[in-house]
Amino acid sequence: MNMNPITDTLNRPLRDLRISVTDRCNFRCVYCMPREIFGPGYAFVPRKDLLTLEEIARLARIFAQIGMRKVRITGGEPLIRRNLEHLVEMVSAIDGVDDISLTTNGSMLTARRAIDLKAAGLRRLTVSLDALDDETFKKINDVDYPAIRVLDGIDNARAAGFNDIKVNAVIRRGLNEHAVMDLVEHFRGSGCIVRFIEYMDVGETNGWNLDDVLPAKQLVEQIHARFPLDPVDPNYRGEVAKRWRYRDGAGEVGFITSVTESFCGDCSRARLSAVGQVYTCLFASEGHDLRELLRSGADDDALLSRVRSIWSARDDRYSELRGLNVPIPGSGRGKVEMSHIGG
Ligand code: SAM
Ligand code: SF4
Ligand code: SF4
Repeated sequence: MNMNPITDTLNRPLRDLRISVTDRCNFRCVYCMPREIFGPGYAFVPRKDLLTLEEIARLARIFAQIGMRKVRITGGEPLIRRNLEHLVEMVSAIDGVDDISLTTNGSMLTARRAIDLKAAGLRRLTVSLDALDDETFKKINDVDYPAIRVLDGIDNARAAGFNDIKVNAVIRRGLNEHAVMDLVEHFRGSGCIVRFIEYMDVGETNGWNLDDVLPAKQLVEQIHARFPLDPVDPNYRGEVAKRWRYRDGAGEVGFITSVTESFCGDCSRARLSAVGQVYTCLFASEGHDLRELLRSGADDDALLSRVRSIWSARDDRYSELRGLNVPIPGSGRGKVEMSHIGG
């Protein structure tokens, strides 16, 4: 295969591609798609504007040619997309792609779906679950969805043979910090790694405030006081989660310190929205459109050269600049919503 890995202006390679397959979701998580904004009148993307699964796979092939090795499928809620298994099949067949994973809220992870995803070649699953008690979980998802059904989804995935399942929990002060120890106790020793994510200022609709962020450091201390932890080296350069191991051998727990400790220096992620816009940062205001080129009959060389020029011009380091308290280029324009480009 003709592979020409490239780097951006800060010498970062492109390794990961996050693909959002839909902007829709059956949850209305208060920190992601608040009901007041994403209500009945909200204009979601019409079907004709979504990239087809074949178009997505074609772009993934192009990205693989400049060094992309890992694909994560996300959304919105990716399992809303019919026949997603076909995309998994096509992407896992791409030369150079050695990892393909999916992030889901778990609500549609039936036994059948889990088996089909596994058979299609999906390697790893991340299931989001922010609390185990229904009072809190329903307050967060805002659609009266019980936590037990997400746990059922996780069980279905295990039964289908997924043995690398992560559980993502966003912790927002005043909302679900009490859920931390419940999640730790429930998943310790289960083989599933819980990863606590700092509440981020993505998008413009969640009313983010720095006071709502619970620094991962505090969570590490809290968990360590009850279940002693030791730090673990990253699996690879650019790994987002900081890893800690339970000293008693009950597995690991992770922390994604997007706000308190930025990891822009190693950020090798590009994001492709459901309508074919490439975002070079989670906090970007604007994407780079590939759909028009794709639908104008462009050949692979034209797509490749466009993707190459997008990545080589990249200079994003939003979290780093936020941490330094310096002006962030383009920050006056609205940031893209998380449900458009995935986590
Ligand atoms: N619907 C799927 C899910 O919830 O797993 C996939 C898309 S969702 C946007 C991906 C991840 O982003 C979820 O784990 C979610 O908790 C996280 N997320 C959404 N908004 C966030 C925010 N403001 N701060 C931190 N994480 C956020
Ligand atoms: Fe939907 Fe995931 Fe956003 Fe929750 S976090 S609203 S499940 S896309
Ligand atoms: Fe990457 Fe942007 Fe996040 Fe920095 S802020 S780690 S560049 S996505």
